[in-house]
Parts: sequence; C-alpha cells; structure tokens
Amino acid sequence: MPSPFLTPGVNAGADTLALLHLRRDQIMPTILRTYDDQNEGYSEGKVSNTRFGSFPHSTMIGQPWGSQIAASKVDTGSRGRKATKRKADDLDESTPGADEETAASFKQPVTASSGFLHMTYPTPESWTLSLPHRTQVVYTPDYSYILHRLRARPGCTVIEAGAGSGSFTHASVRAVFNGYPGGEPATKKQRLGKVCSFEFHEQRALRVREEITDHGLDGLVEVTHRDVYEDGFLLGDPKTGRSPQASAIFLDLPAPWLALKHLVRNPESGESPLDPNSTVYLCTFSPCLEQAERTIRTMRKLSWLNISMVEVQHNRIDVKRERVGLDAEGVRGATVFPRTVDEAVNKLRTDEQRAKRFRLAHMDGEEQFAAAKDDEKEKAAAAAAAQGPPVPVYNMGRLTHRSEPELRTHTSYLVFAILPRDWTEEDEQRCRQKWLSDI
Ligand code: SAM
Repeated sequence: MPSPFLTPGVNAGADTLALLHLRRDQIMPTILRTYDDQNEGYSEGKVSNTRFGSFPHSTMIGQPWGSQIAASKVDTGSRGRKATKRKADDLDESTPGADEETAASFKQPVTASSGFLHMTYPTPESWTLSLPHRTQVVYTPDYSYILHRLRARPGCTVIEAGAGSGSFTHASVRAVFNGYPGGEPATKKQRLGKVCSFEFHEQRALRVREEITDHGLDGLVEVTHRDVYEDGFLLGDPKTGRSPQASAIFLDLPAPWLALKHLVRNPESGESPLDPNSTVYLCTFSPCLEQAERTIRTMRKLSWLNISMVEVQHNRIDVKRERVGLDAEGVRGATVFPRTVDEAVNKLRTDEQRAKRFRLAHMDGEEQFAAAKDDEKEKAAAAAAAQGPPVPVYNMGRLTHRSEPELRTHTSYLVFAILPRDWTEEDEQRCRQKWLSDI
C-alpha cells in the first residue's frame, strides 16, 4: 500500500490515514475504513463523530484530498454515540491526559448535518500537530533544521533513538525516501533510504510500529525495542546483528552520552552501526545545558569533530503595513489620526470591519453561517442609520512587525558533530590511481 505521507495520490483511499480538519488548529487523524466493528450492519463504514456532526467514511473514501465534506444528513450519532462513548473511554484510559482534545471532541453531542470539515492527506508537519502524544515530541522548526544539518537525503540511513511518539520518525522517513517504497532501488548502486528507530519503552515501541504499518511505511522504518545505552544500535541481535550502516544519527534521549560508546568505527565486539564509506553526522537533543556539556565531553573523547551547539528560537513574524493617508496639511504618507468626531467614528467603523473580515476567515462553516446572518442584520441597520463621511482611502504605509510568541515548540539544545570516515592505505592507493588516470 503506498504511504499517504510519501505518495498520497489524488483521492483518499480506504485504509489510509486522513486528517480531518475541524478548525484551523483542530485536526483529527483517522484511518478511513469501509467497515466498522462497532457499527455492523450499516453501509456507511466507520463514522467519525465530531462536534460538527457525524462523518461516515463512505462519504470520504474516493474523494479528492482537500475536499470539503458535509456532515451526514442521517443521524448516525445515536448509534455512533455508543461507539463514541466507548472510544472516548478508551482514549481516556490508554492515553491519560495526552489526547484530551480528541477525547473531548468525541464526547460532544452528535447531531445530524450540522457542519463540515476538510479532509487532507497527512504530512510530517500536520502529523506532528495531530499525533497522539505519548512523550514530548520534536516539532517542525527543530526537525527541519536537524535533518538539514544531518545531511539526511534520499537513499541514506538514519538512526533515531528514542522513537517516543514518532514525530521525528515521520519527518526523517520522508527525507530519506527515494521513491521506491518496499521495492528495489533504481540502480544496484543506490540504497533504499531507511530509518532505524530504537525505543526502550515497550508500549511506545509497539505503538510506533503499529503506526508505521497503518501509515504504509513498512520496509522504510524498522522499529527495535531496545535499551540503546546497554545494547547499542545493531539490527536484530544486539551482539551479532546486522549493521544499519547509518550516516545520520539523531539521539533524543535523557543521557545521550551513554549511547555514544556504541557509535564508533571499530567497536570491541560486533559490527559498527556506522556507514564505513561515509562521514557520519550526529545530533543530540537535550533540554538542559549540563546534559549538552556532558555529551560534548564524551564526543571529544570519542574523536567526534566540528562539535557545535545550536538553540532554535523560532518565531512567526506578523508583518503589517501601517495605515497612512493625508494629514491636516494634505501631506501624503503621514499616519492618520482622527481629528474630528466623525473621523474617529469612521476609523472605528473601518477597524471593526477589518477585524470582522479577519475573524470570518478563521471561522468554521457553522460559525461563518451564523456570522453572515448577523452581518446582514447589521448592514440593514447601518443603511438606515445616518450617512457618515466617506471612509478615507489609505495609501502605502510603513511596514511594521510584531512576533507571535506562542508557537508550539519544545526548545532544547542541539549538539551537532561529525565523524569522518576511516582512511586506509587501500583508500589512499585507490585515490592515487584515480588521480593518475585523470591527468
Ligand atoms: N523524538 C521523539 C519524537 O519526536 O516523538 C520523542 C522522544 S522522547 C522525548 C524520548 C524517548 O526516549 C522516550 O520515549 C523514552 O522511552 C526513550 N528512551 C529513554 N531511554 C532510552 C534508552 N536507553 N534506549 C532507548 N530509548 C530510550
């Protein structure tokens, strides 16, 4: 099955992960199913019950990604409610506190045809915002920078520990994917990009493995249940297993320095997990400076080079143009201050209209419908009211900016380092011969 994360195609297929956007900041992930054990005997398949209505999956499967889906006209809620309650109870038990938002939206009363949602295919970015949290996760501003510094590119192998909630896993598999999921690479020389993910907590390892299968990423991600401090990074048996031959490594662990002894070119026993033919790029993610320092000390002892530390301080910047017009002397470009009561009233009116337009753009369907009705009433009242002076025409104004403080990210110290490949006498001879044949 092609992964919707990598090759989503045009239409939503059955048994595929889809993201249901209820609002701009409320996304509900669901696997589209043509059947539902809890809804046996009905043809609409699984039903997603939300505060905006019931959405039978039969109305979504086969639709183009990005479609607006209307809630069911049939009240599937009454029979869905039993399943809904069970589902909400399940969520409450299995993910205490972590998935309250989803659980809350499941618990909402269900009414027929009360709204709509938008259905999109998942991306690592939207998955990070909607995944069920089992741990702290790495957010997009951090992982986009990390993957760039790790030179994660199609065909390379990434080691990740711990897998946690799988946020970084999804971003890294997209970075190394080279277009042949589960198949052969294009040429014998080309390797299939792969993520080797290690997780110490058994339940978390199981959940990530299930998600990888549900998301069509089998063969591209291999999840191993393992304490990497003790047992390192070989695949299969910790002592005699295969080497992942990784060229990029990301450690999101409480004590990354304890894992570094396994990331060497010539281990005392077993194979090295590193790619013998490539420089290896490493990043560790630690919330406090003492941990970063300890990691750096161990890196130096183990011959890692180019060690540097970065903290990603990501801010969204809201850029606006100041409104300007003609001042009292008729000079264009001056900031407009109201001089008369009429002008002040007029300015308030324009500001209000602008704020309303902004609010409208961020509402869901149901709210937009209610707002449009209110708007009609207001317009009628305004037409009947006294005629004010015309709204001034604003010219190009000075650009101003303000940064948005609340961007979801878990700031940590990122320590980067590289380990060059070993250079043998054989390599030297090969290089010399090539050089001689080139001249
Ligand atoms: N990077 C993950 C993500 O983006 O979703 C989050 C990782 S979470 C902060 C840290 C994980 O490391 C936890 O799930 C924990 O169980 C795991 N862990 C801790 N010690 C470990 C060890 N010795 N070996 C493997 N995993 C370990």
